[in-house]
Amino acid sequence: MIFDPLQLAIPGVRALQPYQPGKPNDIIQREFGKEPIVNLASNENPRTPDSVARDFLNGCNEPFSRYPDGSGHALKNALAQKLDVTPNQITLGNGSNDVLELLVKAFVSPGEGVVVSEHAFAVYSLAASAVGAELKTAPAVEWGHDLQAMRDLVDRKTKLVFIANPNNPTGTWISETEVCTFLDSLPGSVITVIDEAYFEYFSDAQMPDAVHLLNRYPALVATRTFSKIYGLAGFRVGYGVSSPEIADILNRVRQPFNVNSLALTAAERALKDEEFLIRSRELNNQGMIELVNGMSSLGLRSIPSIANFLSVDLQRPAFPVFEKMLQRGVLVRPIANYGMPNHLRFTIGLEEENSKALDVLEQSLIQ
Ligand SMILES: *Cc1c(COP(=O)(O)O)cnc(C)c1O
Repeated sequence: MIFDPLQLAIPGVRALQPYQPGKPNDIIQREFGKEPIVNLASNENPRTPDSVARDFLNGCNEPFSRYPDGSGHALKNALAQKLDVTPNQITLGNGSNDVLELLVKAFVSPGEGVVVSEHAFAVYSLAASAVGAELKTAPAVEWGHDLQAMRDLVDRKTKLVFIANPNNPTGTWISETEVCTFLDSLPGSVITVIDEAYFEYFSDAQMPDAVHLLNRYPALVATRTFSKIYGLAGFRVGYGVSSPEIADILNRVRQPFNVNSLALTAAERALKDEEFLIRSRELNNQGMIELVNGMSSLGLRSIPSIANFLSVDLQRPAFPVFEKMLQRGVLVRPIANYGMPNHLRFTIGLEEENSKALDVLEQSLIQ
């Protein structure tokens, strides 16, 4: 008999398609033989904080032969202070992806329900499917989450609801009033996760702040990350904020050392680097205006976004345009796997990167 491990995998895993991550620049350059490529494909900050890259890593003398602090004590304290919560409300993760998976692992048995929105960040459905959850997807409105439609899908089997605010890849967001109406309508046995990976890009009154809602809603979990505005995607650090009781449960299922020692210290440094955050937000705001205006001069409609990326409707299959852009040295993200075959997602880069992306898009639409 032929050994076929796929037949041995549990049903949810057998049915999975792996998440398709953006590729690192050096691999793309090897594949395409191009001079430095403009990479606007993975919603990273185009810059790295000097407080980490220069001041910390140069001559870094962390005790690398030792295990990291498995409780993430220092980083949790710093976060707790910043967010005005207690350290025992925080769950650190190897990226916020880790925390999203811990939530599914801890709360969802095979056959129990997980509710998401159409076009929502893929990790929710991947994590849910892997454990054999019953995944329910509510249709989107204007590309964004329709919380009433999501509420309508909640039934006795539902354990978790995922809301991405703003959502990736659409950039759409929902207001605090909408979020509260939704949370008020839920049965007490349903945990709602609000993924705020882009929270710091637009932390003004425009955005609901799930951490502030925790006092009112004990079954709420907010997740945030150091991968986006903090410029540390390569380190893999994110966190959840919840009641201490939920955090205690997540703590039981995580790996004992799920965040490495470099990442812990880098995140702590970055958290203190207010200047980097403010500058990144400014650059992003400028870049967003540049891209939105550029798209409309090309006669293209983009989905209004409050994150660090913009999804644009090409009104034709986007993949061939994506390929032509790549040949011209600009990598963006086709999102057909999100049910959006006519859109491309552009991460806001440095000013010259945004301009180049617009030029290359224009050429690639013609030829
Ligand atoms: C990028 C992103 C994350 C962050 O993932 P990390 O594991 O923290 O790098 C989480 N949620 C959404 C919606 C994202 O776009």
